[in-house]
Amino acid sequence: MNMKRFLVITLFPEIIEPELNSSMMWKAQKDGLVEFQTLDLRDFGLGPRRQVDDKPFGGGAGMLLMIEPLTNAINEAKRRLPGAKVLIMTPSDIVWNEQLATEYANSDDNYIIVCGRYEGFDARVFDLVDVKISIGPYVLTGGEIPAMAIIDSIVRLIPGVLGGGEEAYERESYSNEAHLEYPQYTRPEVYDGQAVPSVLLSGNHAEVEKWRQAHEQ
Ligand code: SAM
Repeated sequence: MNMKRFLVITLFPEIIEPELNSSMMWKAQKDGLVEFQTLDLRDFGLGPRRQVDDKPFGGGAGMLLMIEPLTNAINEAKRRLPGAKVLIMTPSDIVWNEQLATEYANSDDNYIIVCGRYEGFDARVFDLVDVKISIGPYVLTGGEIPAMAIIDSIVRLIPGVLGGGEEAYERESYSNEAHLEYPQYTRPEVYDGQAVPSVLLSGNHAEVEKWRQAHEQ
């Protein structure tokens, strides 16, 4: 599989970059499995104050990200990642889930992710993107947390990223027919009077498997 590349367009690269440079995301980059870039939307702002937002026509609260800086940033992103699929973060469209994360992880596509802020976008931006994605029916202040959630959920499914073999995600919650993972325990065997189910300590793999299947939801 080719290295997967992600480019995030955001007004706040400083929110995204620590997440992408930590833990499994950092390791995936170090192992050459993924590459992350950010583009600061402010660099595409207009005039000496690098303006990126303006009031909505027709009135209403808050400010919208303007079409011109968005277009220029998306064009630059497409120049850097030719052929990449462009995803835009919005509270109100298809809702992200494990099946989509698996599809995206297994495809050869690279991804450009556009993060909103304030009241959102001038709607003309939606003509420039391939997919509008929500991470759930609630409103966050910006698209950075959704972008991080989407990247993380894709990257951990790329073969070679997680340790412990394929098993680590094949048995996880949402990975198959909407099962939720069975309960798991680690040391100590008894904590504050609560004991780990004895079958898990038995060393009998068939019985452990039976118990796990019975406790998957
Ligand atoms: N005025 C917008 C509305 O009512 O739908 C909300 C804008 S929200 C405050 C600012 C930005 O955060 C959005 O443009 C989007 O990029 C991001 N965002 C907020 N909630 C999100 C969610 N649930 N899923 C994906 N993106 C979200």
